[in-house]
Amino acid sequence: MRAALVTVYAAATLVAATYAVLSWRRRHRTPLAPSLALITAGAALWSLAQAVAVGADAAPVAIGATYVMFPGVAMVVGGFLWHSTVFTGRRVELLRRRRAVLWVHPVLLTAAVITDPWHHLFFTSAAVDPVEGVIVHFGPLYWLHTAYCYAMIGIGTVRSVGAMRRAVRGHRRVFVVFLAGALAPLGGNMLTIFADLGARQVDLTPVLFLITASMWFWADRSGTPARRMPVAYEQVIAAITDAVMVLDQDGRVLDVNPAAAEMLAVEGHVPEGDVVGRMWFEVVGPDLTAAFAGGAEQQTLTSGNGTMYDVRVVRMRTADGSTPGAVVVVRDVTELERLRAELTDQAVRDGLTGVYNRRHLTVVLREQADRLAVVMLDVDHFKNINDTYGHAVGDEVLIRLAQQLTVAVGDTGTVARYGGEEFAVILPGVGADTAAELAEQWRRCCELATLDTPRGPLRVTFSAGVAELLPGTGVEPLLRRADRALYTAKKQGRNQVVTDSSLALHH
Ligand code: GH3
Ligand code: MG
Ligand code: MG
Repeated sequence: MRAALVTVYAAATLVAATYAVLSWRRRHRTPLAPSLALITAGAALWSLAQAVAVGADAAPVAIGATYVMFPGVAMVVGGFLWHSTVFTGRRVELLRRRRAVLWVHPVLLTAAVITDPWHHLFFTSAAVDPVEGVIVHFGPLYWLHTAYCYAMIGIGTVRSVGAMRRAVRGHRRVFVVFLAGALAPLGGNMLTIFADLGARQVDLTPVLFLITASMWFWADRSGTPARRMPVAYEQVIAAITDAVMVLDQDGRVLDVNPAAAEMLAVEGHVPEGDVVGRMWFEVVGPDLTAAFAGGAEQQTLTSGNGTMYDVRVVRMRTADGSTPGAVVVVRDVTELERLRAELTDQAVRDGLTGVYNRRHLTVVLREQADRLAVVMLDVDHFKNINDTYGHAVGDEVLIRLAQQLTVAVGDTGTVARYGGEEFAVILPGVGADTAAELAEQWRRCCELATLDTPRGPLRVTFSAGVAELLPGTGVEPLLRRADRALYTAKKQGRNQVVTDSSLALHH
């Protein structure tokens, strides 16, 4: 049993020392290496002292080694706190100042164990039993030291759990590895202290630390925590292109990100370096202030120079329900809005002629509830024009006719391309007679106009059918009646306007 324990401790010493050296050599590559080196060096010292305490035959050597364990313990605990501090992403400058405090415990502990033979406050008694080995009884300083150690481990653990909860999702795994690694020696140590194994020198804590070291070393080497250091939201906000401004309760600017500074350089009403600490309305002027005062959470505003901004106001809320301020996120949406308007326009227009398309025509028709008339036009012998003058001239004819109609109709109606060489004009507020008179004017205009082509001047005519919306009937019958009138116009020799109601009289 004794020989086996000595072997285990000796082996643990070797492995821990190796880890310590390997970690130390990586100190320039990862910020986690020095603390890991300290932990593993402490574990090595701890195991070595254990090996000697168990293996030595001479009582003073065994008891001396039992004391020597404690500086090792202090290194492990201090190292753990340091490691967790770096690991949870605390500010390094802060760390430097506090690191000195970490020396207090090891120094006092070392002094306590050295002077213990005189005051016996650490171990009230220490003796060697031929069978059981070193048997000690713990004094008040031992318990003080143990309490300190657990307090430090507690702080490190609470910090890690807190950091884990704050961490972005992808980073959380790293903390799980960290905490799981710390669990093994903690369990072993509690067992040693409270299951009264300590007196019999079966303290596997330093050995179990090798599991910790392995897990952390592996995690560090595999790049998990080293490359994925905690995400600092400050840096994220600095990197995003939206302007982010933090305001306090009174509307005073507390912070702006670089994008906001850039935006305020253009839109702001105060010098660039003078933004923080000023009131929001002073900084952004009346236009944007309105957005904030309006209470709306999101709105699109246009500034004096025509730039469009999407402004979002997120009111911060604390757990107790108070509102300590707001975050204003502003995005330049000028280009986005221009594209949106362009796309919306493209969706309702015909690509060749630029007048509305058939889909939009039906939408307009459905929205018109009152009196209206529709004129359906179809170019005469258009196939011949295509065949004689070519498709390009045919296209030109359609573009010209669309232009003439648009100008003629103006605000009084809507011109749409209904099919290939067929157009429909909606004239709200007029009856069939007025519509027919207008169509007749357009027809005469068209008839007289000439289009210059490589094969000489070209005259184009069209035929038209007119119908009026009858009460209680839908859009479809209206279009059908206009189409029927158009068909009649074609049949009667083309280049003329026929009204649907006149057909009704004839039949
Ligand atoms: P009608 O007087 O009876 O209306 O005779 P039409 O030749 O005009 O009638 P039809 O409907 O038979 O011919 C329409 C032609 O219009 C057929 C098609 O090739 C042509 N067309 C349709 N869309 C376009 C277009 O966008 N550009 C050109 N150039 N031609 C087109
Ligand atoms: Mg046709
Ligand atoms: Mg035609």
